[in-house]
Amino acid sequence: MAQRTALVTGGTGGIGTAIVRYLAGHGHRVATNFRDAAKAETWRQQMAREGIEVCMVQGDVSDPEACAAMVRAIESQCGPVDILVNNAGITRDTTFHKMSYQQWTEVVNTNLNACFNVTRPVIEGMRARKWGRIVQISSINGQKGQYGQANYAAAKAGMHGFTISLAQENAKFGITVNTVSPGYVATDMVMAVPEDVRAKIEAQIPIGRLGKPEEIAHAVAFLTGEETGWMTGANLAINGGQYMGW
Ligand code: NDP
Repeated sequence: MAQRTALVTGGTGGIGTAIVRYLAGHGHRVATNFRDAAKAETWRQQMAREGIEVCMVQGDVSDPEACAAMVRAIESQCGPVDILVNNAGITRDTTFHKMSYQQWTEVVNTNLNACFNVTRPVIEGMRARKWGRIVQISSINGQKGQYGQANYAAAKAGMHGFTISLAQENAKFGITVNTVSPGYVATDMVMAVPEDVRAKIEAQIPIGRLGKPEEIAHAVAFLTGEETGWMTGANLAINGGQYMGW
């Protein structure tokens, strides 16, 4: 198995941590960004106890210049990024008629513009080396929309438009670009939703439970594998059957 350098943005979060574990388990050198140094250090120590050394660089994915510097630092410490998982994301939920411009832009900047900010500094290297795997972590709500999430649904739907365009531009360079659209997964993001609302969500999931972060990470490991070279521009919907549209 080839050992490659994988950058997972938001690697310290619920789904991100599972992706870091899976990619490290596949023998890759894994890097991630962080914002809060103290929080990152606690997480790094937890990973180290599991035998996973993660290359960690400070950087806010909503800031293009910070991302360019972050990629430069990661590449100088760990080698060229061959696998990129655009995973960092936030929600700022409210109905659109009450939504502030700040709630709109924070979500679009962190979920969608971050794809530009982080992918742009790595794509030229991937094209030159003629190999790359790029995965966007989108959402079921980018496919079906969601009451109270016009900002998030717009950003997550935009990530898939980004995926399918980038997939076309880079197919001849050995680079695959795909999206994973998780349904509701038991991470801090979802556990912050009031319990009664969560119960209603769970009732809409045919499999009858929230997803596990590992179930998303497993799909990312598949999409970033050496063998998955003929799958590009796809969207893997992993949602317990909650949304079965195309
Ligand atoms: P978490 O809140 O657990 O983790 C989010 C991660 O993103 C954290 O590491 C966080 O870092 C990082 N992050 C957020 N904003 C920024 C920023 N501006 N710059 C750098 N890093 C940032 O979320 P999940 O693990 O649940 O979500 C991961 C992805 O999966 C997101 O894109 C989310 O939208 C998507 N998703 C999640 C679903 C779910 O049910 N959980 C469902 C569908 C999609 P920090 O600690 O500094 O905040």
